Amino acid sequence: MSNIVAIVGRPNVGKSTLFNRLIEERVAITDNQSGVTRDRHYGDAFWTNKNFTVIDTGGYVVGSEDKFEEAIRSQVELAIEEATVLLFVVDTMVGLTELDQDFANILRRSKKPVFVVANKAETFERAKLVSAEFYGLGLDSEVFPISSMDGSGTGELLDEVIKHLEDDPEEHPHEGIPRISILGRPNAGKSSFLNALLGKERSIVTDVAGTTRDAIDTHYKMFGQEFILTDTAGIRKKAKVNEDIEFYSVLRAIKALDNSDVCIILLDATRGLEAQDVSIIAQAHNAKKGIVIMVNKWDAVEKDSKTADNLKKEILDRLAPMNYMPIIFASATEKQRIFQVVEKAMEVYELRRSQITTSKLNDVLLPIIERTPPPSIKGKMVKIKYIVQIPTPSPTFVFFCNLPQYVKESYQRFLQNQIRDHFGFEGSVITVFFRKK
Ligand code: GDP
Ligand code: GDP
Repeated sequence: MSNIVAIVGRPNVGKSTLFNRLIEERVAITDNQSGVTRDRHYGDAFWTNKNFTVIDTGGYVVGSEDKFEEAIRSQVELAIEEATVLLFVVDTMVGLTELDQDFANILRRSKKPVFVVANKAETFERAKLVSAEFYGLGLDSEVFPISSMDGSGTGELLDEVIKHLEDDPEEHPHEGIPRISILGRPNAGKSSFLNALLGKERSIVTDVAGTTRDAIDTHYKMFGQEFILTDTAGIRKKAKVNEDIEFYSVLRAIKALDNSDVCIILLDATRGLEAQDVSIIAQAHNAKKGIVIMVNKWDAVEKDSKTADNLKKEILDRLAPMNYMPIIFASATEKQRIFQVVEKAMEVYELRRSQITTSKLNDVLLPIIERTPPPSIKGKMVKIKYIVQIPTPSPTFVFFCNLPQYVKESYQRFLQNQIRDHFGFEGSVITVFFRKK
C-alpha cells in the first residue's frame, strides 16, 4: 500500500510552503523529465528509509478564507479516508482561529494519526508559547513547531511521521503474473471496459457503507496468458464527495499503481486530453510503470480517415517528453478493439522486462557516442567506457565514464532517445544513470 501524507489546514497557514519543502529535491527531477506543469499538489518524498507521497489538499479547493465550506469539508473527509498520516497545519503568527477549530472537529473523529504542525515558528518564543495554545485543539497529537520557510523542525516532525508509514512494498507480490491496472478519471469508461472484457455485468460496489477497499483484483486468462487486472472503477466513495475533483482520481491512481506492472489509462474521446488525464499519466510515468493509452468512446466521435492519426499526434505532442506510449482507439460499449488494448498491455509488459545483452548494447551505442560525444565542459572531456542494463523492473541503463558529474541533461536525453530508437521499449520510460569508472 502506498504511504500517503496529506497536508490539511485552512488557507494561508503555509500548506503549500510545507509541501514544497517536503518534496524539494524530487520536484526538480520529475519536472524536467515529465514536462508536467509545476503547479502540482502531490509529489514524492523520502525520509530516512521511507518513501511517501505528499498531497497538498489545499491546492484542490478554492475556498473562502474564513468560512468552513462544503468543499473544504469534503476535502478533509477525503484526506482522512485516503491518507496514511495527516499533517494539520496551523499558524503560530496568527494563533488559533475558529476555522482551525472546525478542522480539528473533523480530524478528531479520524482514526488516522494526526500531527498538529505549528508553522511559522521561526522564533523560539513563537515556537514555545504559541504552540502551547494548539494543545487546546483537543487532538491526540504532540504539537510540532516548525518553519516551512527555513526548514527548522521538519526533521523532528518527519522522524515521527515515518513511524506510521509502511516499508516499501515489494514490487512483485505475485511473482511471474503480470499485474495490469485500469486507470482514468471518473466517467472515462473504466467499468464499461471491465464489463466488456469480463463478459458479464460485474457487481459494482456502490454505496456500501464502509467500503474502503482500494482496488479489486481479478485473475484473468486470455490468449493463453494469465494476468491480474486491478480495477478501481467499482469502488465508489461512501461519502458524498464530488468525484470529479482531481484529488480523488489522483489518489486512486497512486494506490492502484502500487502493485501494477502496466497500466491502461483511459481517455474519453469526446473530451480529449485534459489536465486531469495528464496528472494520472504523469503518476504512472513517475512510478516507471508500463503505460498503454486507450482512447475510449471512439464510437461517439465523428471522424474521417485522418481523425485518429491527428488525435494521436496531438496527444503525444502534448505529453512530450512522456510520449513513448502506444495509443489505441477503442469503444468499451461497442466492444471495439478492447482485446487489442489488453494484448498491447501484455506486450508492453514483456518489453519492459526485456534485457539487452551488454555486448549488443555496447556494439550499438559506443559507435554512436564516438560520433556524438558528450560536449566538453570547462575543457574536460567525458569519456563513456561501457554501458550495462541493470536488472530492474523497468528499463534502466548505467553508463560508466570518467566524469559522471559532467554529463548534462540534454546529453542524457540524447542517450535515452538513442536507446529508444534502437531497442524500442514501447510504453516504458527509459532511465539512464552515470557512474564513475
Ligand atoms: P497555504 O494557503 O496554506 O498553502 O499557505 P502558503 O504556503 O501559500 O503560505 C501562506 C503565506 O505564509 C505565504 O506568504 C508564505 O510565504 C507564508 N509562510 C509559509 N510558511 C511560513 C513560515 O514557516 N514562516 C513564515 N514566516 N511565513 C511562512
Ligand atoms: P467509469 O467511471 O470510468 O467507470 O465510467 P463508466 O464505465 O461508468 O462509464 C461512464 C459513462 O460513459 C457511461 O454512461 C457509459 O455508458 C459511457 N461509456 C463508457 N464507455 C463508452 C464507449 O465506449 N462509448 C460510449 N459512447 N459511451 C461509453
